[in-house]
Amino acid sequence: MNSNLLADNPRPTVAAPALRTKAELRAAVAEAKRAGETVGFVPTMGYLHDGHLSLIRAARAECDLVVMSLFVNPTQFGASADLDRYPRDEERDLRLAGEAGADLVFAPAVEEIYPNGLKDIATYVEVTGQLTGVLDGDPSRRGPEHFRGVTTVVAKLFNLVGPDVAYFGQKDAQQAVVIRRMVRDLDFPVRIEVLPTVREPDGLAMSSRNAYLGPEDRQRATALNRALATAERRAREGGLGIGLESARRELAAVGIEPEYLEARDAETLEPVHALEDRPVLVLVAAQVGPARLIDNVLIRPTKANLQS
Ligand code: AMP
Repeated sequence: MNSNLLADNPRPTVAAPALRTKAELRAAVAEAKRAGETVGFVPTMGYLHDGHLSLIRAARAECDLVVMSLFVNPTQFGASADLDRYPRDEERDLRLAGEAGADLVFAPAVEEIYPNGLKDIATYVEVTGQLTGVLDGDPSRRGPEHFRGVTTVVAKLFNLVGPDVAYFGQKDAQQAVVIRRMVRDLDFPVRIEVLPTVREPDGLAMSSRNAYLGPEDRQRATALNRALATAERRAREGGLGIGLESARRELAAVGIEPEYLEARDAETLEPVHALEDRPVLVLVAAQVGPARLIDNVLIRPTKANLQS
């Protein structure tokens, strides 16, 4: 990376510099591109943990310029969601991002991204249909508007950064499927990489929202990953129905009633009822005390499935 802006700190091992405006961001990326550098991009809402950092490290390993965005995007939060209390610690995020290999962090104010205010957004990017209407997109849950908020801001960020590669986490499996579809349908010239879910030692998927959990709920929350592991094992032994039923029992044992616990085709998100020749996602969402948590497991077909 040859950017003048960053010339005195070309590979920061301390805090990554924060850029506040679209103009600064475009200038920094344009300079890198003029020098023939490849650009890797990691969009985040901050309050970084090892899941985010795994994406930055992957970008660092593959790209010349690594850009992270830090933006708690209001258009993907519903009216009753946790926008106001979403955890934030920018100083720590800039340090962790820099240490993991981010060259710069785009951390704009809401007005920089939505200059006409949130009530006057005329143009959205929306993936319609099944991908955004089920699971978290079910109108009784976060609804399709959540994904419309995600795709709109990610499309804007792609236009601003112009990345060669953008990195997402399997933790948000439905989001990854939706983003891939948007990129395909709108011909964004970017490669999407989806990296495995990073977990705490006891299996809980890392999430900024884990910060909401008190000790007791934190302990109960480990049941989500246990239930998914049970679902996979029992599904391979006795079929998907048995797998889901066992997972449900595992959750009930700690008093968790999931919002959903479902098996879906990993690409189309169509419901599936048996393990056959395509990868299957088992996805769960549950309110655990003050935190709404999601997790999933990807069950790849094995020879045994194919023979049965
Ligand atoms: P967020 O800040 O929650 O919007 O997440 C930013 C990116 O980090 C998204 O692509 C997430 O899927 C990804 N991510 C969040 N948690 C994890 C995790 N535990 N493991 C891997 N990636 C994650």
